[in-house]
Amino acid sequence: MFNLKGKVAIVTGGNGGIGLGIARGLSSVGGDIVLAARNPAKTAEAASGIRSDYGVRALELEVDVRKQDQVESMVRKTLDSFSRVDVLVNNAGINIRKMPQDLSPAEYDEILDTNLRGAFLCAKAVYPTMKAAGGGKIINIGSMTSLFGGAKLMAYGASKGGIVSMTRALASAWAADNIQVNAILPGWIDTDLTRRGRVEIQGLNEQVLARTPMGRWGRPEDLQGTAIYLSTAASDFVTGVALPVDGGYSANI
Ligand code: NDP
Repeated sequence: MFNLKGKVAIVTGGNGGIGLGIARGLSSVGGDIVLAARNPAKTAEAASGIRSDYGVRALELEVDVRKQDQVESMVRKTLDSFSRVDVLVNNAGINIRKMPQDLSPAEYDEILDTNLRGAFLCAKAVYPTMKAAGGGKIINIGSMTSLFGGAKLMAYGASKGGIVSMTRALASAWAADNIQVNAILPGWIDTDLTRRGRVEIQGLNEQVLARTPMGRWGRPEDLQGTAIYLSTAASDFVTGVALPVDGGYSANI
């Protein structure tokens, strides 16, 4: 039920942070992995670690999820190498932390194009293959900003709120094709993204520790169990949900 042997998962932004944590989790239950991100050296290192630690196949692809031709080529190359795509994890994401009045339209576009439009392009690109195969799983990565606002998180929050709406719409649209589409909403996870946030937002570390009932930052490995569940037969009647994995952050005031 929680097995991915013989299955193939594409993880965008899978070369570091949460994406790599999830990719390693899916490999640990036997899935072959495609890591799709911009920095080839970082992706090669991540893929090599997956191969040696889990003995699965790992394909590394240089992809910018903002570019439709690169996203389409990502799916073609996956099919050339592995002949199937069973799981897509839309994880690639960026943030630019500024007050709304200081955020340029170009910065707004960069965030929305990566976090939201990129997820749409990837979902659209895998759909024909999943439909033809009789089903598939798509996991979109939201955020606590899918639920809450933040002064310097306007565009990021809009993208992550959009991820939840997109998840529900895709789940409704593709249920008849046996494609389940769900979102994970990570709490505060210790990665490059939030290490920068801790520098840019004064007091962030203390706020996170105070509000998270589990009393610690999450680690990329904390997302693995939920990602395995939402990628495997265990979740076959679950679609359109947005599941917080946050140490209780969203349950607490
Ligand atoms: P990281 O900065 O560590 O990872 C981001 C990943 O996205 C990198 O692998 C990066 O690879 C990739 N990426 C960025 N832009 C693109 C692009 N245009 N095309 C392809 N890949 C891209 O951050 P996290 O691991 O923290 O974030 C991963 C996801 O989790 C994001 O969607 C983020 O919003 C979300 N998230 C993170 C939380 C946290 O607390 N850390 C909390 C909630 C959500 P490369 O640079 O090589 O392209």
